[in-house]
Amino acid sequence: MSRFPRPDYQPLDLYAPDRRLVALDLSDNTNLWGAPGAALAAVQAADSDMLTRYPSLYADDLKNAIHQRYGVPLDSITTGCGSDDVLDSAFRAAGPEGGTVRFAGPTFSMIEPLALMNGRQAVEVPWSRALQSPRTLLEEDPVIVYVCRPNNPTGTSAPRSWLDKLLGAAGGSRGPLLIVDEAYADFAAETLLAEAPGIPNLLVTRTLSKAFGLAGFRVGFGVATPEVAREVEKSRGPFKVSSLSEKAAVAALQDEDDWAMRTIAECVAARERLFLALKERGLEPLRSCTNFILIPVPDGSARTWNDALRTYGVAVRPFPACPDVGDALRVTVAPWPMLERFLEALDSVLAEGQVPAPEAALAARVRNPG
Ligand SMILES: *Cc1c(COP(=O)(O)O)cnc(C)c1O
Repeated sequence: MSRFPRPDYQPLDLYAPDRRLVALDLSDNTNLWGAPGAALAAVQAADSDMLTRYPSLYADDLKNAIHQRYGVPLDSITTGCGSDDVLDSAFRAAGPEGGTVRFAGPTFSMIEPLALMNGRQAVEVPWSRALQSPRTLLEEDPVIVYVCRPNNPTGTSAPRSWLDKLLGAAGGSRGPLLIVDEAYADFAAETLLAEAPGIPNLLVTRTLSKAFGLAGFRVGFGVATPEVAREVEKSRGPFKVSSLSEKAAVAALQDEDDWAMRTIAECVAARERLFLALKERGLEPLRSCTNFILIPVPDGSARTWNDALRTYGVAVRPFPACPDVGDALRVTVAPWPMLERFLEALDSVLAEGQVPAPEAALAARVRNPG
């Protein structure tokens, strides 16, 4: 009998978002302000040793920079080739083989594939239910519970009081591994990062792909108790952050000029302006505390909107039949001139009647998920 495909990999496919070239790409939440100058300078100053030699085993320079910037102890930090790698390693590190990863959805599209890749079942609890009772995330004895906060693709953030209830009910070291994905916390008011080293069975993950503008370098990290951080490091293995990536990430985190903080402030201002501009057009965007906005559209029309906007050279991310929300478009916040181009395309598409116009009924349909 053939060894391929592995039976439980049958539902898996290659990740294939629409990557056709387009003049303005607002589809993947990467940083449209660019990359920090300090990171570019660090890469340009690289010498041949950085190419010929292996990187550090466990990214000690990167851990030092994270320790300095966020004040978390060195032994509570784990790093990876993007935070996807940290999530993947954590999915492998926890509990016995098999079992479930339980998560509040809609959420990050990589969670289901990462669960399957690690021989686990992914079980979605709708945000509306999870928010009513955090205990619904703990039902049926999951090995891992995943919460994205602020959440992708809704842009909203579960209240801190809700998170505290979940942490209380999870059972600490006797409970499942609780992962709080803070990929967008740089844009939000609040974070769990500083507390994570003291909370058993909690892993908070971060990425340098969004606010820090380094998606191409693939750098992410996690913060947990030393016990959890070490197990995740073991399951990930050494040499996962390349020398150049580490150098760029350290420069970005230690940047005197703090390019990231400045562009975060600009991004938040542009986000609020975009929110109002969308409301003026009769749309009902969800309140966001990230660098993107989710816009519900009439059911069955997300792909039509996406195709119509593409004819004007603008890419967004369509979400057909998004749980709790229905059809929706996710738009990455960018410098205002780019958002003006997006709004022009939106106006043209609406004026031409290429898409079903937003109706008042839309507002009623949108419940506010996590
Ligand atoms: C973009 C994103 C990540 C990031 O990933 P990297 O692998 O660090 O690029 C993680 N979680 C969520 C929810 C994201 O949207």
